Amino acid sequence: MPQSWETVALIPPGEGNPLFHADDDPQVRGWQRSLAMAIRDCRALLERLHLDPDSVGSVCEESEFPVVVPESFLRRIRPGDPADPLLLQVLPQAKESARFPGDLRDPVGDLDSRAAPGLLQKYRGRVLLMAHGSCAVHCRYCFRRHYPYAEEPRSPDAWTPAVEAIAADREIHEVILSGGDPLLLSDRRLTDLVQRLEGIPHLRRLRIHSRLPIVLPDRVTTALLNLLTGTRLQGMMVVHANHARELVDDCAEALRRLVRGGIPVLNQAVLLRGVNDTVDALAELCEACVNLGVLPYYLHQLDRVQGAAHFEVPMDQGRALVEELRGRLPGYAVPRYVVEIPQAPSKFPL
Ligand SMILES: *Cc1c(COP(=O)(O)O)cnc(C)c1O
Ligand code: SF4
Repeated sequence: MPQSWETVALIPPGEGNPLFHADDDPQVRGWQRSLAMAIRDCRALLERLHLDPDSVGSVCEESEFPVVVPESFLRRIRPGDPADPLLLQVLPQAKESARFPGDLRDPVGDLDSRAAPGLLQKYRGRVLLMAHGSCAVHCRYCFRRHYPYAEEPRSPDAWTPAVEAIAADREIHEVILSGGDPLLLSDRRLTDLVQRLEGIPHLRRLRIHSRLPIVLPDRVTTALLNLLTGTRLQGMMVVHANHARELVDDCAEALRRLVRGGIPVLNQAVLLRGVNDTVDALAELCEACVNLGVLPYYLHQLDRVQGAAHFEVPMDQGRALVEELRGRLPGYAVPRYVVEIPQAPSKFPL
């Protein structure tokens, strides 16, 4: 029976989920169990946090982008606080159904940039490979919430056209594994993919864009570290945290494991109203990053995706915030404030 990525990712491991392989490694069983046990019900989420669904103006009925929150992230949300900056990132709001003239379903032009199934090339020298279509958390502001993941490759064989397209273009030096979240692939599938990429002589770097070290930190297993440090490609990890309170406990430990393992780790954040739209919140986020050896990379202006307008911070305010950050932090701790413009040759600096 054909299954979409989304459906497959929601099947718990051990119940025939084809993405997972039975594994003897307790670390692997650990993260797969954490994923299977993530909260996928809005009312359950509110109950756990002692919040009344009516008081927070939340819509709990089925949406096209259902709630997914792993336990580890949930533990970092303050119970009883409807304005918690971590909660706001994952809780559906009635405001999501608001529609505005400038809203787009594909605001960054991804659907025009497909070079092969699962492969996006927008910029010189690097390509983005959609290695896995789903995520361990559903961020309400996500610009990919409308992306037709179900059309992307579902099995290693289906990557062949993408791998061949990379092999045929000697100007490509870096592959970015993205999604969705590429670290939802099992280590075995990830290893298989990395080995195929390693075989392409002009490739030098392997970058992984993942939110899993933040929301499902037990994914950072020894086997994953060994894979990233054992390949001839220079590994690099770009994580995604928006608030300093995300970077604590098991998440901080996972980031330290990556950094001490020798993997350069960068953070990208999205500027979000109510979450990190003050200079204090941004400074704390950036300092929390560099204290762990993680360098702030990009601060993204929110893409105008349908259903996320309530998170938007005006660009002038964003520029002023970043200017203030420059007066408070070491240069290396200040992220580049950028917006994604279809057809531009890079992320566009603001
Ligand atoms: C953001 C993005 C990249 C990476 O851009 P960098 O500036 O190198 O981080 C690559 N490809 C696509 C399609 C992207 O959207
Ligand atoms: S983890 Fe990234 S791709 Fe997935 S929902 Fe969140 S922002 Fe979107």
